[in-house]
Amino acid sequence: MQPEERQRSVGIEDDPNLRKGVSTAMSTTTVTAKQRLVSQIFSVLGKGKQPAPEPRPVLEQFIYAVCREGTTREPADRAFRQLQQRFFDWNEVRVSSTRELAEALAGLPHAEIRAQRIVDFLQEVFETEFSFDLAPLERKGPKLAAKQLARYQAANDYAVAQVVQHSLGGHTIPLDEPSLRALRRLGLLDGDAADLESMRAALEHQVPKARAPLFNDLVSLLADEYCHDDAPRCSACPLCKDCPTGQDLRAATPSTRKPR
Ligand code: SF4
Repeated sequence: MQPEERQRSVGIEDDPNLRKGVSTAMSTTTVTAKQRLVSQIFSVLGKGKQPAPEPRPVLEQFIYAVCREGTTREPADRAFRQLQQRFFDWNEVRVSSTRELAEALAGLPHAEIRAQRIVDFLQEVFETEFSFDLAPLERKGPKLAAKQLARYQAANDYAVAQVVQHSLGGHTIPLDEPSLRALRRLGLLDGDAADLESMRAALEHQVPKARAPLFNDLVSLLADEYCHDDAPRCSACPLCKDCPTGQDLRAATPSTRKPR
């Protein structure tokens, strides 16, 4: 972002009154307004972007989820490809140092932490399954398989949801920090709902199963390009007209126009 653009942006966290107004706007977003916002995400952000996701078996999809969380599709795809190209197989990944893995994951934020998580996951799978094959989970159905996956120490809500969506045929929406931020500001998630499970269930009603992976990719791009944590670029955001937070922030931004 250009420095002058950053200066013009108003941080939500800077203004308690605005923060209060934003939370009211979110909680009163109607079902119709939410449906309209979901359509806008597809029509405004979805033009010509994002090829169909690559199918991956459960183990690979979990590792991909570790790469994908908190970032966008492109760097995650690149990092996962590098892992596959630089190491002979998953066992070699398991026994490699986190420094070597982090080099392959370069380009992702917190590459060392992700590398350690991948090693921990592979180690646990190896100790419990004596192989790197989690395909039997695919026959258990999404709910049971998700429960089993969640028992791995390296698992979190995002990784499990990513596997359910892409490899287990379930309908769910993986929610990482950037997506939660953008969806809350848009009013698609109720700001004060503490329970991730119920927030996601509400969202699943708005987004058709077949379009859920594209929805995730587009929301990640939105968060990365416009809906930044401390200074969202609402004036440049293509969803600003339909976003309650964007409208509040713009109304609170002093006009830069000179009086005639
Ligand atoms: S207008 Fe765009 S950048 Fe601003 S809060 Fe809404 S979604 Fe985020």
